[in-house]
Amino acid sequence: MSMALLSSYTSFGIGGEADIVAIHDPEEAADALKDDCIILGRGTNVLASDRGSERKVIVNRLGTLTFDGEYVYAGSGVMLITLCAACAERCLGGIEWACGVPGSVGGAVLMNAGAYGGCIADSLVYADVLRGGSLVRLSREECRFTYRQSSIADGDFILGAMLRLKFSPQAEILSRMRALQYNRGKTQPKGRSAGSVYLKGDKPAGWYIEQAGLKGAREGGAEVSCKHANFIVNTGGATAKDVLKLMERIEAEVFKRFGVILKREIRLIGDF
Ligand SMILES: Cc1cc2nc3c(=O)[nH]c(=O)nc-3n(C[C@H](O)[C@H](O)[C@H](O)COP(=O)(O)OP(=O)(O)OC[C@H]3O[C@@H](n4cnc5c(N)ncnc54)[C@H](O)[C@@H]3O)c2cc1C
Repeated sequence: MSMALLSSYTSFGIGGEADIVAIHDPEEAADALKDDCIILGRGTNVLASDRGSERKVIVNRLGTLTFDGEYVYAGSGVMLITLCAACAERCLGGIEWACGVPGSVGGAVLMNAGAYGGCIADSLVYADVLRGGSLVRLSREECRFTYRQSSIADGDFILGAMLRLKFSPQAEILSRMRALQYNRGKTQPKGRSAGSVYLKGDKPAGWYIEQAGLKGAREGGAEVSCKHANFIVNTGGATAKDVLKLMERIEAEVFKRFGVILKREIRLIGDF
């Protein structure tokens, strides 16, 4: 047992105690998965309970990165920013959209992460997944990607992904990455968050939250960002209870005003 705080493993900086095991190779993953456990990448799309978790938490640090022409095999624990930088170095374009997404390849595949018109499904050739103790290779079609979703089930462990990118002039790749980073800096808050709280519906979720007058709304240390209403920021000392209370307030208010049910993008982990 190695008990630690989930707050050290989540971008919100929130979460109580759990037995946390970091895994660095597929064998360790297969072994750890024999127990019932929660899988965590970089923890940038989750809200972890203040009470922590009775279930073991696997923190994924599978870091392989191999290149063959336009093909890149990325271990699921590789951070997207590391992947983008390594691709740019080799003049491989098509993944620039991911340079400001703070998560891992595994989290990105599971959620079909995307931004600025691109998403992981655009480049994915196949994903290697540990399912019930066996390795399965899922083609892009088998992953059945839709907006921020895939068919990869709870309990499946994504080991890595083969991506196909495109040779492009390095100056263009770097310039696109810089422009996207600049845009993010202008439109998104810098504080501790889990990115967009809600999925986009017929309109951006932030539009509804802003129109409901909730920019700057607070519960304890959690605040609806004044810069981007679809972000909740931990202004210091926020608990999962604060964030959840704020989310419930947002959901109730948006439903009352517009009859719209906001769908959560962030995932709750641990014992709520
Ligand atoms: C400031 C900020 C900006 C963001 N911007 C964007 C954006 O532009 N676009 C976007 O799509 N997202 C964005 N996000 C959200 C998040 O970074 C992405 O969804 C990212 O892909 C999640 O990866 P992760 O490793 O942090 O996943 P985690 O948060 O650790 O996990 C998310 C889910 O994936 C599962 N999971 C993680 N790894 C694996 C694995 N190897 N196998 C199976 N399941 C796994 C977890 O169990 C959990 O259910 C942002 C977040 C922040 C904090």
